[in-house]
Amino acid sequence: MHDPAHGGRGVVGVRRGGVGHNGSMTAQISYLTDMDGVLIKEGEMIPGADRFLRTLQDNDVNYMVLTNNSIHTPRDLSARLRATGLDIPEERIWTSALATAHFLRTQREVGTAYVVGESGLTTSLHESGWILGENEPDFVVLGETRTYSFEAITRAINLIRGGARFIGTNPDITGPAPEGVLPATGAVAALITAATGKKPYYVGKPNPVMMRSALNTIGAHSESTVMIGDRMDTDVKSGLEAGMRTLLVRSGISDDEEIDRYPYRPTRIIGSVADLVDCWEDPFSD
Ligand SMILES: [Mg+2]
Repeated sequence: MHDPAHGGRGVVGVRRGGVGHNGSMTAQISYLTDMDGVLIKEGEMIPGADRFLRTLQDNDVNYMVLTNNSIHTPRDLSARLRATGLDIPEERIWTSALATAHFLRTQREVGTAYVVGESGLTTSLHESGWILGENEPDFVVLGETRTYSFEAITRAINLIRGGARFIGTNPDITGPAPEGVLPATGAVAALITAATGKKPYYVGKPNPVMMRSALNTIGAHSESTVMIGDRMDTDVKSGLEAGMRTLLVRSGISDDEEIDRYPYRPTRIIGSVADLVDCWEDPFSD
């Protein structure tokens, strides 16, 4: 059965700072890290990301890898990451689909949802005990897909017009594509909003709800956790709003001019996660 406190899914052997499950002392610092632009970029590992992750694992540091992508299940993502040279167990991957399922369970124990999305989203909702269907669902849940069908969008629109609550996994408007960009969840949500007059509630970044559910799942505390990301408008924003210190890496897309435009700052800016290999215990000293 599902443990209501953990949305039916939790990290095996959750550890807090203190004595670990194998009797060793666990680290006092924890990390949440964004995936794209921090650990991988365009399907390839960012140099040093493997050493950073190994350092966390060797030192029994509590961590979670975050992604707003709701297409894949953590198991699929773990396999994809392994192919790039990164060893991240599925229990250490937190997607916007998992965060959405976790959020919905805080709203009601068992509910019904009509889902427009891929297996990452349907699996997470199934695993949390929810019922998926199109017969007067409590919620319409929109996630990322590569095969949006006019029929499914039409059904979603009519269900929302009939009273179903509208949830989106993540607000991203576009994603990268070889030919330029492709429309992401936020763009399809805009279409549905135009036809219904209803805006979705987005659970993924920059909503700090996604950070908080990740922290809960690994049993970490915001005051002792550092958020690593490559974007000011999502990673740094949601990290600081969830009460964490933040590290902005230059390996992604935020450049210095862009960083200056924001009314908030990351706690520290570093080149990449490779810089943390030797100072993971205190990345803010000196
Ligand atoms: Mg990123």
